[in-house]
Amino acid sequence: MCDSPLRLRLDRSALVHNWQWLDQRSGAAACGAAIKADGYGLGAGEVMRHLSGAGCRDFFVATWAEANALGSVAEGLSLSVFHGVRAEDMAAARAGRARPVLNTREQVQRWKDGGGGLCDVMVDTGMNRLGVAPVDIAAGLLDGLMVETLLSHLACADEDVPMNAAQCTDFAALKGRTGARRMSLANSAGICLGGGYAFDLTRPGLALYGGVPRMEAAGHIRQVATPEAQILQRRRVGAGGKVGYNATFIAERDMELAILNIGYADGYLRGFSGSGHALAGQVKLPVLGRVSMDLLIVNVDAAPDLGEGDWVSIGYDLPEAATASGLSQYELLTGLGPRFNRYWG
Ligand SMILES: *Cc1c(COP(=O)(O)O)cnc(C)c1O
Repeated sequence: MCDSPLRLRLDRSALVHNWQWLDQRSGAAACGAAIKADGYGLGAGEVMRHLSGAGCRDFFVATWAEANALGSVAEGLSLSVFHGVRAEDMAAARAGRARPVLNTREQVQRWKDGGGGLCDVMVDTGMNRLGVAPVDIAAGLLDGLMVETLLSHLACADEDVPMNAAQCTDFAALKGRTGARRMSLANSAGICLGGGYAFDLTRPGLALYGGVPRMEAAGHIRQVATPEAQILQRRRVGAGGKVGYNATFIAERDMELAILNIGYADGYLRGFSGSGHALAGQVKLPVLGRVSMDLLIVNVDAAPDLGEGDWVSIGYDLPEAATASGLSQYELLTGLGPRFNRYWG
């Protein structure tokens, strides 16, 4: 391990535990894993290795660049590419290491013209993002295709709105109407909505990595990623002293500060200014003033023994950190930058 002053501790047993909980909540359906955006910032290759070791078979990335970065896919595992095939993706797609998820009539035609082969298809059931129209399927768009999985995606699964059941019903209406071997609708939040949403295959992302998409998952999902930063300086500020950019914090009394090697360029964004905290064991160390690009100032009055060179962790329980920062749990994970030395423990 190189000696970066910033590292990301990744908990393999928490990742596996979260997948097992989602797998069990998926009932008879298989439970896959969305590992796009480099495994939501944690490292797609390592995530794939740990989850396949636990029994996960179906993996999803966004682009062919992400699929290629994973190298060869182990025997018995399946990898799908959500964004389908552009003309410039055909060579990579035809190499057969992963399946495209075809999203448009053009992509379907391109795949057929290129000789076809096993593929997945996304159908739009109301989100109006990616996917072919159910009427086009009814009109025979998929005739002659070898479809492994028919997918659709829920727009509001983290909310209690009628749209969830409406999408589920519209998707279920396609049962037996295509040659697809399996059907897949639910993301993390969709799994929490209940067994009716699981179909044959679920594809969680967020909850694998410690995100809590809905209350049903609270208390079951464990934190996976914890930033850890080294203290570069400990200093004392007198009453009235100003702290950080724009002096947004002014000490009301004498205070002890620690300057940490983490900042917004690492994905610890300015929304944590005055609201985040670091942790020395169980002791909370509140963030004072603005988050800088590479640095963070915390109050260490409660940790008299901490000094230069010591490590502290950053409070990164995702629901709590989302509330503190105003960022989504997704952004908190995918924003974690390249300066972290990622290590699995
Ligand atoms: C990202 C993604 C998922 C995973 O969603 P989470 O909310 O992170 O569980 C599933 N399906 C599709 C199509 C996606 O783009």
